Amino acid sequence: MKIIMFGTKPIEKSYTEAWAQKTGNEVKMVPDPLNDDTVEMAKGFDGVVTQQTASLGSGDVYQKLASYGIKQIGLRTAGYDMVDLDAANANGITITRVAIYSPRAIAEMGVTQAMYLNSKIGLFNQRMKEDNDFRWADALVSNEIYNLTVGIIGLGHIGGATAQIYKALGAKVIAYDPYYDPEQEAFVDYTDLETVLKESDIVSLHTPLFPNTKNIINADALKKMKKTAYLINMARGGLVDTQALIKALQDGEIAGAGLDTLADETTYFGKKVAADDVPEDFKTLAAMPNVVVTPHVAFFTKTSVRNMVEIALNDTVTIVNGGKTRNAVR
Ligand code: NAD
Repeated sequence: MKIIMFGTKPIEKSYTEAWAQKTGNEVKMVPDPLNDDTVEMAKGFDGVVTQQTASLGSGDVYQKLASYGIKQIGLRTAGYDMVDLDAANANGITITRVAIYSPRAIAEMGVTQAMYLNSKIGLFNQRMKEDNDFRWADALVSNEIYNLTVGIIGLGHIGGATAQIYKALGAKVIAYDPYYDPEQEAFVDYTDLETVLKESDIVSLHTPLFPNTKNIINADALKKMKKTAYLINMARGGLVDTQALIKALQDGEIAGAGLDTLADETTYFGKKVAADDVPEDFKTLAAMPNVVVTPHVAFFTKTSVRNMVEIALNDTVTIVNGGKTRNAVR
């Protein structure tokens, strides 16, 4: 089978070539996104795969793909907001996505940031770099993870993987999730949101962004947390009221934060931006020694990249051959 893969990045090349060799399929990799200008490149191929944040454009793309005999678009991403599902549907095109590529990747980044904060590394760094002060200070005494209570909000794939790591490190792990999963019982004690906020030394956020989870960490929630607690957000920026977080950090209501996502990130994360275009909230947070900000890269591991490529290509073969996959959208 001949597959065209749009939006390819150099890091995907070796995984794509290995998959093609393993499965005996042919994959043409092109760096361009799939849109009105590039869709003609798909002529003569059996399947289409893409990874892009930009829209696939007008309904013409789906119509043209259908006229080339193409039945599917395999997305190498979890998100599918760049696709017009109605237009795809109208043209008989099945969209697949990679909903779960490596929960462990995101879990490990969250634990890494929590450990960095808990060991006060940013604070020691600041003292050494700015004051040539290499002393310890009583205020910077740390606490080992097995003495801590970790609270997980949203105990799905990533929250569950996070709970397992903390449990393995000896922490007490509690969690709030409105949906009970018996498989998690070995790792956590389920409780309510209020208890998670009040009792946790590390609060780790792993829910999707829904209307009812938007700003789930607001000024009130931050006030409920321990003054010594750390907030970890590896999920979606909109779960946290950024201004309330900045105020809580400035007022010492919590001890620090590890953030892989920020509410306004879409305008600058993933880009190299001019100095004037860097938002003030990022600058304020990044200047704090008790805050770590990473640009939505928690997912970015070799395992994730390989899985995004392989799962999208496997689903493409399945759909082209007339089969079904649980990764189909809708
Ligand atoms: P998931 O669907 O497996 O788990 C989400 C969990 O949240 C579910 O168990 C659900 O019951 C629970 N939940 C829903 N509403 C809730 C509420 N009001 N309070 C508490 N829990 C609630 O999702 P996942 O794959 O584990 O992803 C979790 C988050 O991580 C999502 O926000 C996702 O967008 C984000 N994510 C981030 C990265 C990254 O690189 N930083 C990568 C992938 C996913």
